Amino acid sequence: MNPTHDPALKSWIESANDPASDFPIQNLPFGVFSTDDRDRRVGVAIGDQIVDMAALEYAADPDKDGSVFAQPCLNYFMALGPEVWSETRAMLSRLLSADEPRLRDDPELIQATIVPMEQADLHLPFAISGYTDFYASREHATNVGTMFRGAENALPPNWLHMPIGYNGRASTVVVSDTPVIRPLGQLKGPDDAAPRFGPSERLDIELEMGAIVGAPSRMGTPITTEEAARMIFGFVLLNDWSARDLQVWEYQPLGPFQAKAFATTVSPWVVTAEALEPFRLAAPPPEKPLLPYLQESAPGLYDINLEISLRPAGGKEHVISRTNFRHMYFSAAQQLAHHAACGCAMNIGDLLGSGTISGPTRDSCGSLLELTWNGAEPLDLDGAARRFLEDGDAVTLRGAAKGDGYRIGFGACRGTIRPSPVHPATAAASPEDDAPA
Ligand code: MN
Repeated sequence: MNPTHDPALKSWIESANDPASDFPIQNLPFGVFSTDDRDRRVGVAIGDQIVDMAALEYAADPDKDGSVFAQPCLNYFMALGPEVWSETRAMLSRLLSADEPRLRDDPELIQATIVPMEQADLHLPFAISGYTDFYASREHATNVGTMFRGAENALPPNWLHMPIGYNGRASTVVVSDTPVIRPLGQLKGPDDAAPRFGPSERLDIELEMGAIVGAPSRMGTPITTEEAARMIFGFVLLNDWSARDLQVWEYQPLGPFQAKAFATTVSPWVVTAEALEPFRLAAPPPEKPLLPYLQESAPGLYDINLEISLRPAGGKEHVISRTNFRHMYFSAAQQLAHHAACGCAMNIGDLLGSGTISGPTRDSCGSLLELTWNGAEPLDLDGAARRFLEDGDAVTLRGAAKGDGYRIGFGACRGTIRPSPVHPATAAASPEDDAPA
């Protein structure tokens, strides 16, 4: 802990002192925003305002060469390394403190560097190098395994020995409020003679946290869990949208492919690992001894309350699950150390999905697959039954670590389902369309 974690700290930006604000002075998450008059640059959220880091950098030194903040992503700043991340947080914490006059008492400088959040558009905060998704909540893996393989074989034999993952698609990771188009793909029920092609009928959510790698590792060079923990810049909420019907037909033997490749939504503010330091928790004692390269010397999990809301088109929002990031068997640092153990290079901007986070009870599960037990027990949303997602449904993930008189919040991670397009190969062809121009 350091002075930036002091629960008694207050800011001269009054909205940051509201105990219900996601962005008190103890948080200081990084994002990328634009305004009507200026394109994308790095900002830091404080209450209902944004510190324009590019403008602040310019005000401090107008002659400086090579801005790391007048950039459309956080990667340039992350590349400066953990010491600079921490120094920047300490500088901001001082500058925004209630008793620090430098910016507080300079209306011109405030005008140049503080932007109301309601005037800003928020963008994907980092350029995503690669996206890897894990499967590391024991309750989730047990629920899914029980559904498809029976209770005796719920956990695969490797599960307690390593964080299982697959390489996902970076190209379709999008920021909150980007529409999600229902995927098309091959569908085949267990009794169907042959597959057909069409819109997914079992579109699902996965409540996850995303860890953002801010420091690289070299190809052929494994890292310890301690090194891995220092390489993680911060965390976002992550919805790993999943087409269960595509997945069940395609996944053997190489794992998920199209079922997960159409969209992954992240929240716009990256909450730094340093801001979450007071909320660290030890992982449960491993049931099977872990190999030395996966052992952790410091608590690797976090106590972060999470919830999923679903709002049908024209209806009201329903909270359908409340859970916590502590329900993990492997930490993000263990996942990163495992990822690099084979010699895989890790890059600045790599995104690691935790895996669906499910707690021990039905109403703390992180997917509709579990909340409705594969559609057998639909949710009741004011009389409307919901097994999987329907067109027009809006799903919002929210999360916050609860401090003494403040919360380290993540903002919203939201997506609304749009209908599938018509595939050009299956559109009804008319002779005119085929005629040469
Ligand atoms: Mn997932």
